[in-house]
Parts: sequence; C-alpha cells; structure tokens
Amino acid sequence: MTQSPTPTPTKLAVLTVPAFKDNYLWLIHDGVHAAVVDPGDGEPILEALRANGLTLTAILLTHHHADHTGGVPLLLEQAAVPVFGPRNDGIKTVTHPLSEGDRVQVPGLDLRFSVLDVPGHTLGHIAYVREDDDVHWLFCGDTLFGAGCGRLFEGTPAQMAASLGKLAALPDDTLVYCAHEYTLSNLRFAEAVEPDNRALQMRVAADSQARGTHLPTVPSTIAIEKATNPFLRYQEAAIVDSLVAAGRLARGAEPVTAFAALREWKNVF
Ligand code: ZN
Ligand code: FE
Repeated sequence: MTQSPTPTPTKLAVLTVPAFKDNYLWLIHDGVHAAVVDPGDGEPILEALRANGLTLTAILLTHHHADHTGGVPLLLEQAAVPVFGPRNDGIKTVTHPLSEGDRVQVPGLDLRFSVLDVPGHTLGHIAYVREDDDVHWLFCGDTLFGAGCGRLFEGTPAQMAASLGKLAALPDDTLVYCAHEYTLSNLRFAEAVEPDNRALQMRVAADSQARGTHLPTVPSTIAIEKATNPFLRYQEAAIVDSLVAAGRLARGAEPVTAFAALREWKNVF
C-alpha cells in the first residue's frame, strides 16, 4: 500500500514576496496553510502559493493604502478567506475588524497575534505582534521602516512618535517585518543626522552589502532599530544638535517638536 501524500505542517516560516518597486508582501506558512500580510498585489501571492504548494487561509491588513490592499479582491476570488484589518481605516473588504488589545487566532495556522494601534501614517493603522514566548515577530506595515518611519499622511507627529514608542518597547529580538525596502535611503539620512553613531556605520556596511547582492535588509530587529533608527532616537543629544545646527529646531524644544522637525527634514532630504 502506498502512503497518501498528506502534507504535514512544519514550523512557521515567513516568505518574502517582493512586489511593485520596493514593497514586501509577507506570506506566513507552515508548509500547508498560509496567511498573507498586506497583499498589495494578488498575482505574486498566487504564484508563491502555487510554487510552495500552500493553501491561503487568511489575509491580514495593516492599513488602507492600495499597495497593501490592492490584491485582496483577486485573492478572495480564489478563496473566500477571512480578512483581518484595522477597524477604523476605511477598508471595505475587512471581515474581522481589529484595534488595540484585540487578539487574532490566525485560521489554519498555529499562530496568534495581538494588535497595536499605531496611528500616524494613516489614522487607523494597526500592527500585529506575534504572541509566543520564544519567537517575536512584528508586522508593522508603513509605521516603522528599516532606519526610518512612514510619512505622516493622516496623523500628527505626536501620534507617530507615540506609535513608534510602542514598537520600540517590544523585546529587542523582535523581528521587524516592515512593508518596504527603504533601508539604504533611510540610512543615508540617518548618517547625516548622527554621523558618529558606530552601530549606524556598521549597519550601513552590512545593509549596503546585502542590497549589493539584492538581498532584503528586512526583517531587522527592534534592537537594531533602537541603535540606528533616528526616528526612535530623536531625543539623543547628537540628533538634537544636528537639528539645531541645521536651523530646524530651537534649543530646548520639546521632544515631539524634535520628532516633527526630523520627519520634515527627511521629507526634503
Ligand atoms: Zn502606506
Ligand atoms: Fe506602503
């Protein structure tokens, strides 16, 4: 008698699915079932599911922008899976609305997330934090980037600074799965505002080498971001000094004013 080829679930893994110019769509799977985070495009996700023999069981969204949600209709045509997403970000396809404090048992996978509200890039933006004692994952959409943060399209600097503060409080070894490969351009700005940061110089070397061979710089970790990301370090004396020297901040200003000045400087850098 031959054995039936029933696939057995394995340890959870995260597949990086590049899309558009610089987006990363994330496919979390156990070798059998898969959940996708922020499918801005449906085709590359269908392709990755086919190539890896996976069945989609859930869609998770962080915010309403098209490069994070555009593939949802195509995926739902193939299978009517639940769509988890922010309660207050105006996404019509969401079947399971979420906000801070909510917990998600991801259908089909041995995976639980808790939800954080992280307004700033959009007003309803949420982030997903894996609930597991040993393995720490963060899916943060366009809030925290490698060495940077999202643009303030809807929220205030105070909101974004508070949102980033929540993410910075996660365990140091948390893997940061952000939605764009912006790291090298963010690092150029980071070096300009904090040129003597040794950890930053080491990150520039490592990430430049990665991109030189077309490897993703994502995920990074919360520890790396805390050591190098100016948008988590805006209260550091060296960064405040750079803002003052550039004529973008008055000496003695409030921290949130420094954060706002830093974000505005990056916008024109
Ligand atoms: Zn966005
Ligand atoms: Fe985006």
